[in-house]
Amino acid sequence: MLVVMKKDATAEQVTAVVRAIEELGYRAHPMPGALRTAIGVTGNQGAVDATHFETLAGVAEAIRVSKPYKLVSLDLKHDRSVVRVGDSTIGGDELAIIAGPCAIESREQTFAVAAAVRKSGARFFRGGAFKPRTSPYAFQGLGEDGLKILAEVREEFGLRIVTEAMDEAGVDMVERYGDILQIGARNMQNFTLLRRAGRSSLPILLKRGLAATLEEWLLAGEYVMSEGNYNVILCERGVRTFAQHTRNTLDLAAIPEVRRLSHLPVVVDPSHGTGRNHMVTPLARAAVAVGADGLIIEVHAQPERALCDGAQALRLEQYEQLVFEVRAINEAMTPASVTA
Ligand code: PEP
Ligand code: MN
Repeated sequence: MLVVMKKDATAEQVTAVVRAIEELGYRAHPMPGALRTAIGVTGNQGAVDATHFETLAGVAEAIRVSKPYKLVSLDLKHDRSVVRVGDSTIGGDELAIIAGPCAIESREQTFAVAAAVRKSGARFFRGGAFKPRTSPYAFQGLGEDGLKILAEVREEFGLRIVTEAMDEAGVDMVERYGDILQIGARNMQNFTLLRRAGRSSLPILLKRGLAATLEEWLLAGEYVMSEGNYNVILCERGVRTFAQHTRNTLDLAAIPEVRRLSHLPVVVDPSHGTGRNHMVTPLARAAVAVGADGLIIEVHAQPERALCDGAQALRLEQYEQLVFEVRAINEAMTPASVTA
């Protein structure tokens, strides 16, 4: 159920509707928009009777939402969501660039990449302290020591930190050191973790699962939002197919479709999406061209020595060139360039 307020509804009327929803034992999610506020109703098992709300002051209409996801849906909120971290944004006109190594390996390795990321003008730095590895014998990340290095990067370079947590204890730790919490592809349907992320004050970067449909991915976002955290960024990072020329198949058709269904910002990870150095830049260009709100790019000063995902890491100068190119594409695509 979606309760749409009239354009001139007052804050008191919105509060009264929220109270009426809560009195029925449901949860209310007010979403202010440019033209009107809509209030999502969740927590109901069956259908909710629209007449409960339609008679309340300031209510324009109450609409049944037939899609399985509600809060992520464009039906609820017509204005595109912009996630703000300090003065940096994901989802506005500016293309968000999130770059850094796959894993935090050492202070020196991290700082070398961070300096290049800062120089490129990107606002966000990525790097895993907790790494979900296929083999239990592979490098698992530095854990809290890695997060401390990331906190130093934030201090030294003014970059916002995007980093993964694999479990609830990890979320507690990332909340102490990071700015955006990444939920990795392997955890996209870890529902306990999603609910914990929904109670976090950090924005969530939610990667698409290795074999997730768009509906499953959006429902994972719905888990986070249903707990009250509305700052969700979706990330397309490729899915498993029969292809042998790439690590994953980057599903760029997902971008316009997600933007048709949801108000959430969506970024693309061409590093995991291809797994191969020479494909990262071409697919990054394409991602921007199909409407991605940002990119997440793995970068290493010495990819051949990387402890994790070296084959897909860009060298510093490759990364610098990529940023130059994707910014030009993004600028060519902003509406201003059509009217100018
Ligand atoms: C990563 O970002 O390094 C990572 C492990 O990504 P994914 O969850 O998409 O595999
Ligand atoms: Mn990686």
